[in-house]
Amino acid sequence: MSNRDYYEILGVSRTADAKEIKKAFRQKAKELHPDTSTDPDAEAHFKELGEAYSVISDAEKRRIYDTYGKDGLNSAGGGYGGGGYATNWDFMSDFGDIGDIFSAFFGGGGGRSRGPLRGDDRRTTLELSFMDAVFGCEKKINITRLDACQTCNGTGCAVGSHPEACGHCGGHGQVRQSAQTMFGNFTQVVTCPSCHGAGTIIKNPCKACHGQGIAPKDEIITLTIPAGVDTGTRLRVAGGGDAGANGIPAGDLYVVIQVQEDEHFLRDAYDVLMKVPVHYTQLVLGDHVRIPLLKGHYDLKIPAGTENGHIITLKGEGVPVLNQSHLRGNLLIRLDIQIPRKVRGDEKALLQQLHDLHKHNVKAEDIRHEEGHASSFFSKMKSFLAGK
Ligand SMILES: [Zn+2]
Ligand SMILES: [Zn+2]
Repeated sequence: MSNRDYYEILGVSRTADAKEIKKAFRQKAKELHPDTSTDPDAEAHFKELGEAYSVISDAEKRRIYDTYGKDGLNSAGGGYGGGGYATNWDFMSDFGDIGDIFSAFFGGGGGRSRGPLRGDDRRTTLELSFMDAVFGCEKKINITRLDACQTCNGTGCAVGSHPEACGHCGGHGQVRQSAQTMFGNFTQVVTCPSCHGAGTIIKNPCKACHGQGIAPKDEIITLTIPAGVDTGTRLRVAGGGDAGANGIPAGDLYVVIQVQEDEHFLRDAYDVLMKVPVHYTQLVLGDHVRIPLLKGHYDLKIPAGTENGHIITLKGEGVPVLNQSHLRGNLLIRLDIQIPRKVRGDEKALLQQLHDLHKHNVKAEDIRHEEGHASSFFSKMKSFLAGK
């Protein structure tokens, strides 16, 4: 915080009136603006000027300053609170271009922005079949959202009346607030407390929406679901959320995908797993089987001597990658022996024959094991399956 006299900073006499003060401030602000001034301390001087003007342009603060000096403004007993907030300047609005200069400078964002920019976002869940999620689809969803009130067309005003510019912020929706702390003078942009950022005031509100300009509305939204979405994928529908009060544009709608399970395919990100039930003999002797793909069919060759649980990978037969549908995951096919619950008479006789043959061999193996010592369960199993 500056120690210079506020009148001196502004370059006015102690008896200057409001008009003179305003004029002096405009003049000095142009001179000292850090973007144009060559003074290396321009920024500090510019802030100092803002501080001086915030006090001298406010009759009550000026009176305290004149009587007690800066200590009066800062002291807890000075009527401006001990919470560090000594001044509160909302002079931007009466100032047009100078206001803009300060806005650009203090706002940091290079320009003025208006209060709350958008209404609330909404969220809904959409359940999709496995295949709709894999290949994408079009879906219509019903939602209820806040939209412009039909009675007043979103103006919030009773028929025949109009909103008026907010006198507190001059229609800007924002005011500057300066906080004087022991570390210096800090300034921030805050939403206008009078109009809550709208910049306008409704004196004669619409009865249907109580002046909010918004009302619940049922809508059907058509969504194009891209290929590759999965449970948890969140799609954003810009502007599909709630409209804000007083003409503030709608927030977004977030559609969270929930994918149903498929009886054949199990999804693992962009890969798909599938179990193909086979006979013991198909693995031992080899075979061809026709299996379903996500789209179409495939003739799968099972080589002779394939192990149970063996996985065959078909590259590029998985799920299209979200937003890169030219890329696809893989299809992993697991061959699983299926044990029949019932077998027909002639089949049973053949199996019995096979069983007896194996039983004999296993006995021989066991004897060898008892004689020796190194045979493990797995090597026995291996021999058993190899028919030794
Ligand atoms: Zn209305
Ligand atoms: Zn306002």
